[in-house]
Amino acid sequence: MKENGRRQGAPAPCAACKLLRRRCAEGCVFAPYFPADEPQKFANVHKVFGASNVNKMLQELPVHQRGDAVSSMVYEANARVRDPVYGCVGAISSLQQQIDALQTQLALAQAEVVHLRVRQTASFSHHGFGPASPSNSGSPSSKLMNSQAKPMFDMDMVVDQASFGESMWSC
Ligand SMILES: [Zn+2]
Repeated sequence: MKENGRRQGAPAPCAACKLLRRRCAEGCVFAPYFPADEPQKFANVHKVFGASNVNKMLQELPVHQRGDAVSSMVYEANARVRDPVYGCVGAISSLQQQIDALQTQLALAQAEVVHLRVRQTASFSHHGFGPASPSNSGSPSSKLMNSQAKPMFDMDMVVDQASFGESMWSC
């Protein structure tokens, strides 16, 4: 029964045990995180941290945090292999520079927004005999229309009629 269970749980040694050439025992601390089909994942971690250190670090962690720890160790190890001088610090500092640059851009954009708002408010208050002005600008034409419909136009009509009359009489 035990043999059966082990065969089902770990049919092949995990990538770590394979690299270390040891028997992958049931409950191997590496097995859940370093499957046999990803040998390079453990190779870099082993190269940078050393298998026994990785083992120790994983043993010290509660099981639910081990996956995250492995992810970060794999990331760090790969970065160190790629960039032996800066490792993942190279990536971190380059991202930090991007953040700084973007924050500067953001601050400039926000300052521009404030500037534009202030200008907009200023131009409103210029018109600003202002809240009245929109209705004023609307009103002249409407006043004209009204006045055309009303007495002024009537008087014009009268005058016109009179002049027409005069001209008609003179003709
Ligand atoms: Zn193993």
